[in-house]
Amino acid sequence: MNLIQELHDALAELETQGVYKHIRVIESAQGAYLTIGGKSYLNLSSNNYLGLASDTRIKKAAQDAIEKFGVGTTSVRALLGTHSLHVELEKKLAKFKKAEDALVVTGGYLANMAAIQTILGADDVVVSDELNHASIIDAVKLSGVKNKFIYKHTDMVDLEMQLKLAVEVRQASEEGKTRIMIITDGVFSMDGDIAPLPEIVALAEKYDTLVMVDDAHGEGVLGDHGRGIVDHFGLHGHVDIEVGTLSKAFGVMGGFITGKAELIQWYRQKARQFLFTNALSIPDTAALIAAVDMLEESDKAVGILWENTHWLKNELQKAGFDTGKTETPIIPVMLGDEVLAKNVAIKLFEQGIIVSAITFPMVSKGKARLRLQPSSLHTQEDLQKGLDAIIQCAK
Ligand SMILES: *Cc1c(COP(=O)(O)O)cnc(C)c1O
Repeated sequence: MNLIQELHDALAELETQGVYKHIRVIESAQGAYLTIGGKSYLNLSSNNYLGLASDTRIKKAAQDAIEKFGVGTTSVRALLGTHSLHVELEKKLAKFKKAEDALVVTGGYLANMAAIQTILGADDVVVSDELNHASIIDAVKLSGVKNKFIYKHTDMVDLEMQLKLAVEVRQASEEGKTRIMIITDGVFSMDGDIAPLPEIVALAEKYDTLVMVDDAHGEGVLGDHGRGIVDHFGLHGHVDIEVGTLSKAFGVMGGFITGKAELIQWYRQKARQFLFTNALSIPDTAALIAAVDMLEESDKAVGILWENTHWLKNELQKAGFDTGKTETPIIPVMLGDEVLAKNVAIKLFEQGIIVSAITFPMVSKGKARLRLQPSSLHTQEDLQKGLDAIIQCAK
């Protein structure tokens, strides 16, 4: 076997193509500023939307829980790994999302796996937005679903066309037991646009299908107190499966599924991502309970996040930049050219500002961009500094 030689060559090829990922190492806490290589950088590309990752109260909750209960749970949930903290977190998340029940796993990626694989099999049908997250695509593969219909990004005319094809498959199947599930991201992470969930739900009702939304970038961001996309549109009870992450705005790690009681009960019985892998550790779980409590108690941080978002977006537009179709704190600055986007990000970094360049294959060729994500931690001064530097480097 010359696997290692082959990988050696393939790695060199990645470097030649300029797509080798040089991973940055953070030496500070997560915040509006990050230390990298001993130097402080303004962080304008973080999912720590509400600053919870290093919040004092959340750190304290994790510390207290470690004192009392230690660190690990050393067993899967269905054996001896369910701690009362897990149950408390699930209850609080269900209440926060205004859902009947919630199931927590160790990541949004795993939550998508569980949500889809447990419910769908080879003979079921998926109807999926073309820009859905990689974890949804992987989960659909894992489910073994043969019939997948991909609709053009947020295009409701195309969604209806694909639904008609899906219904044909169901009609051709025995007893009509085939499940059809429409799956969409809530907030799309490259453009910052929001799925047209009311229209999707209306089509699902018309064609009698299930709806699942992955609200990773909407949790803690959209809706009242950051309850997410379903709350944003007032669609409680109309979306069958809601998947969320605890690794972004919630500031810790983990993923969860919310929905009707029987659905979540079924996941507790059958989801392989729940049955065959350990749950969140004690400090993670305690930290998340504090995070949910904080969001329930106050919408102040969510308010500041949105003020910062509107200010930055308006100023970028005033300066003549195209911010695409964003409706959220994910703000693209469309530059088009791949090399230009990369060079601007490098220049900004040299000036002490972290902004990601998003290029092919993450977005289609010629659609290269910077991607900014303000948070509630940024002061007016921080944002002004970032804005000035972007204007100077990109113009
Ligand atoms: C980040 C993200 C995930 C993965 O969440 P993790 O908790 O990091 O595993 C899943 N779906 C979407 C849409 C995401 O943006």
